[in-house]
Amino acid sequence: MVRRLKVAGLKLASCSGCLATIADALLPYILKGDVELGCFALLADPEMDGVYDVGFVEGSVATEEQERELREFRRRVKFLVAVGACALFGGPQSINPGIAKLVEDVVEVDYRIPGCPIEEWQVREVINHLMRGTRPPKETETLCTECRRMNVPCVAITKGLTCLGPAVMAGCSALCPSFGRGCYGCRGPSPGTSIKPLLELDPNALNMAIVSQEKVRRGWR
Ligand code: SF4
Ligand code: SF4
Repeated sequence: MVRRLKVAGLKLASCSGCLATIADALLPYILKGDVELGCFALLADPEMDGVYDVGFVEGSVATEEQERELREFRRRVKFLVAVGACALFGGPQSINPGIAKLVEDVVEVDYRIPGCPIEEWQVREVINHLMRGTRPPKETETLCTECRRMNVPCVAITKGLTCLGPAVMAGCSALCPSFGRGCYGCRGPSPGTSIKPLLELDPNALNMAIVSQEKVRRGWR
């Protein structure tokens, strides 16, 4: 049986790129009547009222007001999805340590969608699963696997560039390598991978990572 979902969206310290992607992905569901919008930055009234089946949160937590908003959002949401490099790893704000907290440092998170910005298919996957009452799957492939599948020439081999792809989650269609530059890790550490071999090749490799150093310490062995 397909469930109709009430969906909310919260914006914290961020650029709205991920929420704009979510808005595009949700539009067909809204038109079909499968999704009803609750409070939603960009799309609807952002004031919280009532409870929601799914809540997407974009951005890191940079102020006490945002921390209060996030806790209130968590109280009202049954399934909380943290989206994008800002929410999951701190994003560009984490370049200065101590300025931004990750969403999971403040509240419990039910699901994570990596990316900068995230992709529409990732949002559809979550919505389709929750409409059927099932949980969306975790991603485990590394970006190198995606490069090979898409026949993208390896920039580490052909250009000698630093690339974090061997230790980063796939799912972006190898966007940066397909334009001839190394992956900067916006999708975050791939579970079970190690950053050590990359650091042995290039001790400065982590300087190009968009993820926070704290997350690197926790997520990459
Ligand atoms: S993850 Fe990227 S696209 Fe999404 S809000 Fe942060 S900077 Fe913008
Ligand atoms: S370009 Fe980067 S992600 Fe792609 S195969 Fe080479 S090292 Fe892996």
